Amino acid sequence: MSQFLNPRYASLEAYTPGEQPRDKRYIKLNTNESPYPPAPEVVAAMDAAQVEDLRLYSDPTGKALREKIGGLYGLQWDNVILTNGSDDILNFAFMAFSGDGAAFPDITYGFYSVFAQLHGIDTQVIPLKEDFTLDYRDYCGLNKMIVIANPNAPTGLAIPLEQIRAILETNPGHVVVIDEAYVDFGGESAAALLGQYDNLLVTQTFSKSRSMAGARLGFGMASKAIIEDLEKLRYSTNPYNINRLTMLLGEKTVDNNGYYMENCRRIADTRAYTQKALESLGFTVLPGLGNFLFAQSPDISGEALYLALKDRGVLVRHFTNPRICNYNRITIGTRQEMEEFIRTVREIKEGTL
Ligand SMILES: *Cc1c(COP(=O)(O)O)cnc(C)c1O
Repeated sequence: MSQFLNPRYASLEAYTPGEQPRDKRYIKLNTNESPYPPAPEVVAAMDAAQVEDLRLYSDPTGKALREKIGGLYGLQWDNVILTNGSDDILNFAFMAFSGDGAAFPDITYGFYSVFAQLHGIDTQVIPLKEDFTLDYRDYCGLNKMIVIANPNAPTGLAIPLEQIRAILETNPGHVVVIDEAYVDFGGESAAALLGQYDNLLVTQTFSKSRSMAGARLGFGMASKAIIEDLEKLRYSTNPYNINRLTMLLGEKTVDNNGYYMENCRRIADTRAYTQKALESLGFTVLPGLGNFLFAQSPDISGEALYLALKDRGVLVRHFTNPRICNYNRITIGTRQEMEEFIRTVREIKEGTL
């Protein structure tokens, strides 16, 4: 730390992204990326002329892409905001709507607590139940901003829309953020409730289900007034937050939505295969709906399994939080990758027993 850093950031604990090692080729099951490439039409959209056009700024309004995304959910373009990954919109939401504090679960996406710290927000951290389920009644009538990942990460567990409805209705004076980074793999989008609740903000990303993690594209959907608030912060931060290439590829991606939804179905099938295979090896696996599974073995600690897998060229995510340190989060890759993963786990287990 330099002597120049504003003291208010001195004790900020930054988010730790999953590792992206370069030392060898891994079967990469640690950061919930898609194992499938973008649609061929998306790949073909990139050419030298597009690169030459990089001398020009991108469209700060993003209207064309916002219209296309709105079209997926029956919304107008001004019910949609575009951000540089959905992390950005979560950041704006914490800045904009947590004047009375923010509440989120103890086991959830690690970035929420970083944003809360970054902006000096009072937080209420609400423990999930023993089995990692979320009791929606814990969030009724809190009178502060509420952030819920649905499906949750890293557990993969989802709550039904009826429970989200109850949370919205009992917190009419505050924004409820539903982070749907994983909704396309089997969840149900709260975007269906947008016409009925003016305090709902739904966030999604092109990083997981749309094979664009490296392009950085996220979006939020809400009432026009909430979008206006968020746009004010976006224009006060970086109006060109989406680069030209990402904007273009984002539009082509929405044009080819069917390709991506088919990939999501394949990933859900592979998830079912992987869950069964892990259970037959004695693992406890939560019934997750994301493109990952959250699992623990009675025979080997989360850290030992993570290290043994890494040694053998397979990366999974391990957490140090004591409540979940015996679990690993395993991204669902291709069927072939998951068969290889299961073979490797079996080898490790046989070696340790
Ligand atoms: C991956 C993820 C995000 C954001 O990812 P971006 O790449 O910034 O869009 C947001 N929330 C959860 C729960 C995630 O897992």
